[in-house]
Amino acid sequence: MPETNQSRSADVRKRPPLVIRDAALRPRHRRIALATVWAPFLGTVAAVALIPVTGFGALEIGLMVGGFALTTFGIEVGLHRSLAHRAFQTHRWMRNLLAVLGSMAAEGRLLHWVADHRRHHAHSDTGDDPHSPRVRHKEGKPQKLGPMVGLWHAHIGHMLMGDVTNCTLFARDINKDPALRKINDMYGMIVVAGLVIPTVIGWVATGTWVGALSGFLWGGMVRMFLVHHTTWSVASFAHRFGASPFDTGDYSANNLWLALPSFGSSLQNNHHAFPRSAYLGLKWWEVDVAGGFITLMKTFGLAWKVREPSAEEIAAKLAQPSRAEGRTT
Ligand SMILES: [Zn+2]
Ligand SMILES: [Zn+2]
Repeated sequence: MPETNQSRSADVRKRPPLVIRDAALRPRHRRIALATVWAPFLGTVAAVALIPVTGFGALEIGLMVGGFALTTFGIEVGLHRSLAHRAFQTHRWMRNLLAVLGSMAAEGRLLHWVADHRRHHAHSDTGDDPHSPRVRHKEGKPQKLGPMVGLWHAHIGHMLMGDVTNCTLFARDINKDPALRKINDMYGMIVVAGLVIPTVIGWVATGTWVGALSGFLWGGMVRMFLVHHTTWSVASFAHRFGASPFDTGDYSANNLWLALPSFGSSLQNNHHAFPRSAYLGLKWWEVDVAGGFITLMKTFGLAWKVREPSAEEIAAKLAQPSRAEGRTT
C-alpha cells in the first residue's frame, strides 16, 4: 500500500545504514585487505633475508625512519586530527599534502579512513564500532570478545570481514571537497608513489640497483609494515591496556608505551574525552609528537584555530560522575 511504502521509506531516511554490506563487493574488499596485510609483511621478511646482499646502514635506516615519520604525520596530523576531527585549520595545500602523505601509509582510501574513524567515535566499544577489541556485531547482534579474539579483531580481523562504513553518512564533507575527492580516487597511485620514491632515492644515492632494492624494501615495505602495526595497535591495545582518568563511557585508555611510536594517538582516553582537541597529550609525560608538530605549524603560521581543552574543562570532565554502568560489555 502507498502509505506503508511511504512510511517505510521515511523510516529508511531516518536511519541510514552505518555499514554497506554488499555481497558482491565483499570478496573484493577482503582481497584488498589481505593484500594490505600480507604484502608489507612479506616485504619485511624479504628485507631482513636480503640484508647480506643489501647491507643495513644509514641509507636503510634513514629511508625507513624518514618514511615512517612522514606517513605517520600524514595519518595522525592529516587524516586524524585535521580531517576526521577538524581540530585545527590549515592552508588547503598543507591539508592536501598531509592527506597525500597519509594515503601513502596504505591504510585505505581517505574517505573510508575518515568514515571508519568517525564511526569508531560515534559508537565506541559497541557492536557498531568498526574495530573494538571488546565487542563486535555478529548476525546483527553484539557479541562480546575475549582478550585474544578481541585483540585480533581490532588489529586485523575487522578488515577481513569485507564490510564498508557508509561514507555518505560519516564523511559527506570529505566527499564534497573536490581536492580531497581527487586524493581519495588516486589512492592506488599514491600508494605506488610511496614505494617508487624511496626506490629512486636508493638508486640515486648509491647509483646501483641494489641501492634501489634497498630503498624499495626499507623505505617502502618495512616502513609500511611498521606504520600499519603501530596504527592498528592503537585500535587493539589502547582500548584495553592503560589508564582511564576520564569516564568516557567506553574502554578507551591512555597507553603510554605506544605513545611515542604512534605520535600520541595511543592516548585514547584523553582523545575520547576531548575528541576535537588538537592535542592528545594533556600531561607533560604523555608524549604527543603529532601535537608538537601542530604547535610547530602554529608557530610558523601553518595552523590556526587550534582547539584544546582549558584547565577548567579538564577538571570538570574529571569530576563527572561515572558512566561505567552504561558500557556495553
Ligand atoms: Zn578510540
Ligand atoms: Zn579520533
